[in-house]
Amino acid sequence: MKPARSLTDLVAAGLMTEADAAAMAGVADRYAVALTPYVLDRLAGAAPDDPVAVQYIPAPAEAYSTEDELADPIGDHSHSPVKGIVHRYPDRVLLKPLHACAVYCRFCFRREMVGPGGDALSAGELDAALAYVRSRPEIWEVIVTGGDPFLLAPRRLRAIVQAVAAMGHVGVIRFHTRIPVADPARVTPELVAALRADGIASWVAVHVNHAAEMTPEAAAAAARLADAGIPLLGQSVLLKGVNDEAAVLEALFRALVRNRIKPYYLHHPDLAPGTSHFRPSVERGQDLVDALRGHVSGLCQPTYVLDIPGGHGKAPIGRCAIETHGGDGHGIRDYQGRRHRYPG
Ligand SMILES: *Cc1c(COP(=O)(O)O)cnc(C)c1O
Ligand code: SF4
Repeated sequence: MKPARSLTDLVAAGLMTEADAAAMAGVADRYAVALTPYVLDRLAGAAPDDPVAVQYIPAPAEAYSTEDELADPIGDHSHSPVKGIVHRYPDRVLLKPLHACAVYCRFCFRREMVGPGGDALSAGELDAALAYVRSRPEIWEVIVTGGDPFLLAPRRLRAIVQAVAAMGHVGVIRFHTRIPVADPARVTPELVAALRADGIASWVAVHVNHAAEMTPEAAAAAARLADAGIPLLGQSVLLKGVNDEAAVLEALFRALVRNRIKPYYLHHPDLAPGTSHFRPSVERGQDLVDALRGHVSGLCQPTYVLDIPGGHGKAPIGRCAIETHGGDGHGIRDYQGRRHRYPG
């Protein structure tokens, strides 16, 4: 099976009608479409509201942008000192060696930047990006993202890891990827080996939004990483129609922890153009996170965060258990909603 890279391919795969494809030509011209053979195989016969299908198959609603949506919702451009680097926090940088992905998520926050023609760094540009990190001793962590860095050949990943490990002041290299659930066979022993080097701790954050994505193949890919001693984090986006129910989130986080992936962040969706149909209210997100607290192991609780539009960084947006603070101490709400006092 070949990847689907166009609406015509989706029609051929039986995942879209001709009429829908005709109506969505504008959407597909603007935002890249791709599904891997693995995902196509999984979606054979899936209903249109399948929680995996809606993450990848274009919808007519993408043609509508709201006034508050932004082409660069989290301000990558304003914090980019050299091509391929985003330096927002003092001690860590994003390194974006490429802007291509194996699949294109319809809610992607970088949807105006990613795509098959999406800028990849040339060898010289990558050297310049690495030189930027090398010359700044305050950088303790390099977060390799994109696009999807696991699309790089193991040889190129190894070159990046080795270069960063040799810097001395960088203690951690973290990869953000969707490949373990989008094309798990790509997580080969060679790729896993390329991520590790002496002198640096390698972490991998896997982007997963629904328990149905943790198939036996995806679980095996995660196991190859974890068995190599690489700690795994889960990164999920709260998405209307995909996972905006307490039971669905609970199943997702349990599936992650069961596969040695610690849920790290639950992201409120960014203001990417044409994605308002995916965005629940912040209050809805807070209710869902409250519903998990206490009922599910602490291992299964990510931090609910929002990237503040304009590039001001991430902020935790879950409700605080401290409800009042006055002369007689703090009023604290427990997981069942009862109130208690903590003196001081
Ligand atoms: C999200 C992000 C990071 C990583 O933040 P953590 O809270 O450490 O996961 C770093 N730099 C930029 C620009 C980011 O958007
Ligand atoms: S894999 Fe990540 S960067 Fe690529 S389209 Fe999905 S959300 Fe965007």
